[in-house]
Amino acid sequence: MNFIEEIVENDLKAKLNDGRIQTRFPPEPNGYLHIGHVKAICMDFGIAKKYGGVCNLRFDDTNPAKEDTEYVDSIMRDIRWLGFEWGQVFYASDYFDQLYELAIRFIKEGKAYVDEQTAEQIAEQKGSPTEPGKESPFRNRPIEENLRLFEQMQAGEIPEGKMVLRAKIDMANPNMHFRDPIIYRIITSHPHHRTGRKWNVYPMYDFAHGQSDYFEGVTHSICTLEFVVHRPLYDWFIDQFVPQGEYRPHQYEFNRLNITYTVMSKRKMLQLVKEGLVAGWDDPRMPTVCGLRRRGYTPSSIHTFIDRIGYTKVEGTIDLGLLEHVIREDLKETAPRMCAILEPIRLVIDNYPEGKEETIVAENIDGKPELGTREMPFGRELFIERQDFREEGSKDFYRLSPGGREVRLKNAYIIQAVSCEKDENGNITVVHATYDPNSKSGTEGGNRKVKSTINWVSAEKAVPAELRLYDRLFSVEDPSASDKDFRELLNPDSLKVLTAMVEPALKTAKQQDHFQFLKQGYFVVDDDSTAEHLVFNRTASLKDNWQK
Ligand code: ATP
Ligand code: MG
Repeated sequence: MNFIEEIVENDLKAKLNDGRIQTRFPPEPNGYLHIGHVKAICMDFGIAKKYGGVCNLRFDDTNPAKEDTEYVDSIMRDIRWLGFEWGQVFYASDYFDQLYELAIRFIKEGKAYVDEQTAEQIAEQKGSPTEPGKESPFRNRPIEENLRLFEQMQAGEIPEGKMVLRAKIDMANPNMHFRDPIIYRIITSHPHHRTGRKWNVYPMYDFAHGQSDYFEGVTHSICTLEFVVHRPLYDWFIDQFVPQGEYRPHQYEFNRLNITYTVMSKRKMLQLVKEGLVAGWDDPRMPTVCGLRRRGYTPSSIHTFIDRIGYTKVEGTIDLGLLEHVIREDLKETAPRMCAILEPIRLVIDNYPEGKEETIVAENIDGKPELGTREMPFGRELFIERQDFREEGSKDFYRLSPGGREVRLKNAYIIQAVSCEKDENGNITVVHATYDPNSKSGTEGGNRKVKSTINWVSAEKAVPAELRLYDRLFSVEDPSASDKDFRELLNPDSLKVLTAMVEPALKTAKQQDHFQFLKQGYFVVDDDSTAEHLVFNRTASLKDNWQK
C-alpha cells in the first residue's frame, strides 16, 4: 500500500465526505501524454478503482495560446489504451463564468486589483523568500476603478499584456505564491478551443485548479510535489467563498517520475516535434504514451513499471534500463521467436538436391508447443547472417568457416562450410556448405549436438522487411543537467534503418504484433506496415547494452 492509499483508507474509516472517493486526472491539453503522466494516471484512476470511487477527466484549459483539441483527443485515446475509464469529462473552461464571478467578488471585497505594470516590473517587486516584496503602485486603487478596468479587460478594450488582475493578499508572506499572485490575464491573440472568442480574460492555472476541484466535488486531489507550495494558496482561495467546516477538496502530493536519458517535459517534446528532430509525438523514441505504444510497449508492461517504481515524497530519477527490463520480461514469455536476417549473405548447400523444398514446422517458442508453430520453407539456397561466416576460422570462432566446425541451422540440419565466392572488390558474396541429411531436427539425428546454432531463411521464399532499430534518444543520462541545449545531446545513433530478409510467415503479421527476432531483439509491427512493405520497430534489444 502506498502512502496515499493509507490516507484514503483512514479517511474512509473516519467517514469523511460520507465515504465518497472522487479523484480527477487534470492534464493541460497542450501536448501528448508522457510516461510521467502515466504515473499520475495510475494513481488517480487506481485510487478510484480500488476504493469504489470515481475518477473524472478534467482538461485544465486555461491558456488558449497553447491548447488544442488535437491534444484533448490524444489524451483520451491514450488513457483508454492504458485500460482506464473515466467517470465524466470536465473542462476548466466549463467554469469560466463561475471563476469570472468569483474574480468580481474578490474585487468587490477589496481582495483583488488591476495592475498596469509590466510583467518584468511585477517580477522585480516579488522579493525573495528572505526579503519581502514591494507593493504595486496600483495596489490600493478604488474598488470601482478595479471593477471598471476588469470589465474593460474582458470587453477586449485593453491590449494583451497591458493589465492583469492580482489577488491582494500579502507582499511579505514567506510563501512567494501569496505575494499578490496574478489571477487573470488578457489573451486576445488566440481563440479558445472550446469557448472561441467569448473571453478576452482567462484565469491563471492557480486560480482555476483548486476551485475546479471544489466545483466538481473532488475529495482527494492528487498531484506532484512541485504543487506543495501552491496548496496553501488553493486553500486560501476556497476559504474566501466556502464557509469553514463545509466540504472542500484536499490535495496530496507524490514524487514526479524522471527517467535517465529522457526529457520529461511537454514543452521540450513539442520542440523536438516542431523542429523535426523526431518524426512526431508518436515517434518510437519519444517517452510519450503513443510513442511507447508504437515502440512496442504493452499497457501491462507500463503498469508493471509504475508498480515497481512506487510513490514516495522524495524526488529521484529512474534508470531507463528498468523500463526496458519490464518490456523484455513481458515479451519474453509470449512473443513468437522468428528469424530475421539483418545482414544477409547467400548460403548454398552444395549437396542438397536442386529444386527440392522441405517444410520445417518450428515452434514459436521452443519447448512451448501451446504457443503455436509455423512453417519455414527450407531449400538449397538460404540467407544467413554475414557475421556467421568467416573466411579465416579460429579456435574461439564457433560458427562457419571453410573446413571448420559443424554448425546447426536452427530447427533444421547440421552443415559445414566448404568455400566462398567473392566479387571483384574481394567482398564475400556466397558461402558454400554441405549438409548432413541425417541430422534434421526432430528426427533421431537431430539430437546430435554441435557447438552453435545459426539462423537462416529460405533465399527463394524470404521477404524483405524494413527494420527500424531504435535506441535511446539522448546520449547523456541527465539531459536537463547539462549546460548545453538539450537538442545538442541527442543520440546520433538513436535510429538505424535497414532492410532485412525475414521468414515468409511474417507476411501475415498485423500492426502491433510482437516478435522476438532470434539473437536480434524484440520487434513490433509498425503502424505503417503493409503486406507489400513490412515494417518492424525494435522495441528493445535482448540485453541491456548500456549497462555500465
Ligand atoms: P509537463 O511538465 O511535461 O508539461 P505538466 O505537469 O505541465 O507536465 P499537466 O498536463 O499539467 O502536465 O499534468 C497533468 C497531471 O500529470 C498533473 O497532475 C501532474 O502532476 C502530473 N504529471 C505531470 N508530469 C508528471 C511526472 N513526470 N510524473 C508524475 N506525474 C506527472
Ligand atoms: Mg502543468
